[in-house]
Amino acid sequence: MNPFSYGHLNILTFDIEDWYHINYPQLDFTVYDKEEDHSLLFSAVKKILSFLKEKNTKATFFILGRIAEKKPEMVLSIAEDGHEVALHGYEHYLLKDIGKEQFKRETEKCIKIFEGITGKIPKGFRAPSWSATPWLFSVLNEMGFEYDASVFPVKTPFYGIPDAPRYPFFIDGNLFEIPTSVYRLSGKNMGFSGGIFFKIFPWMVIKKAISKIKGEGLPLIFFFHPWDFWDRPGRLPKFKARVMFDLKIGNVENKFFRLINNFPMNSITSVLNDLKKGAQIVSSSKFQVPS
Ligand SMILES: [Zn+2]
Repeated sequence: MNPFSYGHLNILTFDIEDWYHINYPQLDFTVYDKEEDHSLLFSAVKKILSFLKEKNTKATFFILGRIAEKKPEMVLSIAEDGHEVALHGYEHYLLKDIGKEQFKRETEKCIKIFEGITGKIPKGFRAPSWSATPWLFSVLNEMGFEYDASVFPVKTPFYGIPDAPRYPFFIDGNLFEIPTSVYRLSGKNMGFSGGIFFKIFPWMVIKKAISKIKGEGLPLIFFFHPWDFWDRPGRLPKFKARVMFDLKIGNVENKFFRLINNFPMNSITSVLNDLKKGAQIVSSSKFQVPS
């Protein structure tokens, strides 16, 4: 018997950051932060919000603290449209690079920033560039977070926890984890639900992965970025600019429309109780989080 009954749940998430917020190779974000007014980012967010309004769709937005500080009106427009506002770190540095104490300080700062703008304390967190560390889950739990969405059970040269569960679970019985969707192919987990994976795969492949996952009773969790919806190279480091824009591979916007036209999407908070119902407790020692 299929142990999961989440096949009807489709979750849409966005990581709200600007063009330079990538962590490979490591950049000094503060240099770009000084110069960037995020107006192009905001116009992409406005475009996303109008798509979602048109489709009567709600989503979760994991937003950088630094951007929220500089563009509170952007955060407010997301919250006022009924979407969930959650955290994505302060400056998008990898968690292993900032360490536990700095992470705590910055996260406390972020909670204050977001509470000041929306009047609500964010419930969820997603680590920049999927950079979960072994200490992350207990720290989030101690800080009162209800869930984490930093686990991507896939193997890539830059990130991923390939042996983590593919289903939502309570880590050590405490924090609730909502891993991003991956599908099994020849005994390996494959990404398809956002980023480079969503970009390179044709819609037919994505659709196939979706029905396989639904058949397993797993929820669908997709992730997108503002740059999926703009057409500007910016001043991206060369290799990234090539992959993102010059190669012109995939048509993310078109596939995104097909996705939300075919599968009604929700924010994480709106389905959190359904996800938690009957969820298993998994010990963090069962999977290898990079340190
Ligand atoms: Zn990010």
